[in-house]
Amino acid sequence: MEISRRKFLKLGAVAGSSAACAVAGPAAAREMPDIDPDWYGMLNDSTRCIGCRACQVACKRVNELPAESTLGDDRISGRPLYDSPRELSERTYTLVQLHRDEESGEETFVKRQCMHCADPACASACIVGALKKQDNGAVKYAPEMCMGCRYCMVACPFGVPQFEWHKALPSIRKCTLCSATRLEKGQPTACSSACPAGAVTFGKRSELLEIARARIAAEPERYRDQVYGEKEVGGTCVLYLTKKDVAFAGLGLKPFGYKPVSDLTESIQHRIFQYFIPPIAVYGVLGGIMFYNQNRKRQAGTDGGDDEY
Ligand code: SF4
Repeated sequence: MEISRRKFLKLGAVAGSSAACAVAGPAAAREMPDIDPDWYGMLNDSTRCIGCRACQVACKRVNELPAESTLGDDRISGRPLYDSPRELSERTYTLVQLHRDEESGEETFVKRQCMHCADPACASACIVGALKKQDNGAVKYAPEMCMGCRYCMVACPFGVPQFEWHKALPSIRKCTLCSATRLEKGQPTACSSACPAGAVTFGKRSELLEIARARIAAEPERYRDQVYGEKEVGGTCVLYLTKKDVAFAGLGLKPFGYKPVSDLTESIQHRIFQYFIPPIAVYGVLGGIMFYNQNRKRQAGTDGGDDEY
């Protein structure tokens, strides 16, 4: 039976993470993260979204991302896709999905992107520090440090980081909260600027929480009395509001507890280091891989090539 390189890598990642989980034990209790009131973020008000996807287009434009119509089955059939991709991908950092709440039957448009967690599990899982929480609140990725282990993809509770499966020299891709392209120039995120319905509000997390609570208080018959992301997984910089009769699960947002999930990712790493290889040896090998990757990426140009496998 033939197996593609992509399937092989996926199976390897799943097998690796399963093995790691099998040996993972309790880590030292992790404290709730300190939340900086000046961190930037976004409030996604799902009651206002009209599903126009202007945010999606603006994100593509600012990040210079290609269309999805050359990917996957579509490329094989030669039939261009009219529909958007159904999930986030290495070419789509933000996406509007249509969800139906099982209990009420209500349908709602929901914008997805990185949640820019207060205590990001992706950064906690990254053994070379390629993902980091920035002072402005964004969780940013440094491709030159990445050695392609994809632990961040397994660790993220929201399924956000995406891998460039089609490239010879792949990187992880995800929403950056427009940190370098706009925030550092004093501009709001591209998606929030593009929204014609006021469904995406950019601002400081502390102010967004006040806006969210004010909307709930002003229209209690419209909104459910909860802000998703205020406490989930230790708090996130992207927050959500939902209709009164639609649970957050009906928007595809999982009912996580309030503790950061970084506890789990760190305990996996601790056990790997405890039982397998001394950290100094691991870091030596990883340093070598990073050095090799940096050289290859430099030789291939900044975007790592676009070779199909
Ligand atoms: Fe990292 Fe996922 Fe949180 Fe984004 S949503 S910061 S990728 S753990």
